[in-house]
Amino acid sequence: MRDDNCIFCKIANGEIPSRTLYEDERFRVILDLGAATRGHALILPKEHFADLVELPEDWAAGAMVLAKKMMMKMKAALHADGFNLVQNNGTTAGQTVFHFHIHLIPRYAEDGQTIGWKAGSPTPEELEAVQKEIAG
Ligand code: AMP
Ligand code: ZN
Repeated sequence: MRDDNCIFCKIANGEIPSRTLYEDERFRVILDLGAATRGHALILPKEHFADLVELPEDWAAGAMVLAKKMMMKMKAALHADGFNLVQNNGTTAGQTVFHFHIHLIPRYAEDGQTIGWKAGSPTPEELEAVQKEIAG
């Protein structure tokens, strides 16, 4: 299903032009207009799923296999030193476009980017409590 009000549905299905790197029946890979580094790209499914919760498992599997293939191709073509995969879910986590996507971010020595988080220092008790909360 597509969402008529979703810009990524339109881009993924070719209704809005994009810098396409790859396309198949289910996915399109495009260059991000706000590229964090040279070659920053996005994997977009051609059907509308708001986030990873909505993405069916077979699509999720396909997206990850495609991410691996694109990473290999892009690393070689761009001579990247490293690579980040980023996938945001929810406004609090930084998602701004509510159509599932995976960021493919080639990394270069001294590219000036920081993609990550501040390390915390939870106590053993806190780790045990959260382990119980999640795993039961
Ligand atoms: P997120 O914050 O994870 O939802 O990422 C949305 C990404 O989409 C950002 O990196 C934007 O730069 C990118 N973006 C938004 N609109 C477009 C567009 N029309 N074409 C390409 N990239 C876009
Ligand atoms: Zn959409």
